[in-house]
Amino acid sequence: MALEIRQFACLEDNYGFLIHCSETGACAAIDTPEPARILEEARAAGWRVSEIWNTHHHWDHAGGNDTIRAASGARITAPAAEADKIGHVDARMHPGDRVRLGRLEAQILDVGGHTLGHIAYWFETEGVAFVGDALFALGCGRLFEGTPQQAQAGLARLRDLPPETVIYCAHEYTQANAKFALSVDPQNAALQAYAREVEALRARGEPTVPTTIARERAANPFLRWDDSALRAGLGLETAQDWQVYGAVRAAKDRFRG
Ligand code: ZN
Ligand code: FE
Repeated sequence: MALEIRQFACLEDNYGFLIHCSETGACAAIDTPEPARILEEARAAGWRVSEIWNTHHHWDHAGGNDTIRAASGARITAPAAEADKIGHVDARMHPGDRVRLGRLEAQILDVGGHTLGHIAYWFETEGVAFVGDALFALGCGRLFEGTPQQAQAGLARLRDLPPETVIYCAHEYTQANAKFALSVDPQNAALQAYAREVEALRARGEPTVPTTIARERAANPFLRWDDSALRAGLGLETAQDWQVYGAVRAAKDRFRG
């Protein structure tokens, strides 16, 4: 397989990712949370960062762009809708566009909500997606800019990816997310097992990222708007899907675990 992925911790709880086409040497940083760390990881791998692919405009995702560009001359690919906030952008992406990394190709998915123009990068052939802050293991990003309708539509696009798709999210929030998830979906056996696994991984200092669409569909309350037990617990048996998502999001925002 031509796609190589290097994942490493950045800042407090971010993950940095470097992706590499082993046939051509092209290498992209997915977001730029901690530029010095990203450049060091690239050096250690023997890779040169030729690309930056941003998911959204927040500082812990695009704030290191200039430093990396100055160091490596990386070309910046970013959501067209957020280019003004990001600064220098070479390639402005719209939903449905395709972007190449050497011999590899990713599709741009619209996952707006956390921010209005948030995009995900989906490598269909390799079965891998980089989703930024749109979806987390057992959680999802806060609704800073979009509406619940918009965010739920974006999450539905991710949920509809092949179940084995490997999901790289940008933060290690899973332990806190699991506590909340159990509070709204306490009888879910898949969630209970997942939460135990997360405890064990974190106790050993290991990451819970990446996850898969199958795991999240079974246990993540932000993707379970059509689950009857979750709906009943919220008193929303007959609500629209986005309303169920919105109620879960609002409950999480209030939750003090
Ligand atoms: Zn963010
Ligand atoms: Fe973030």
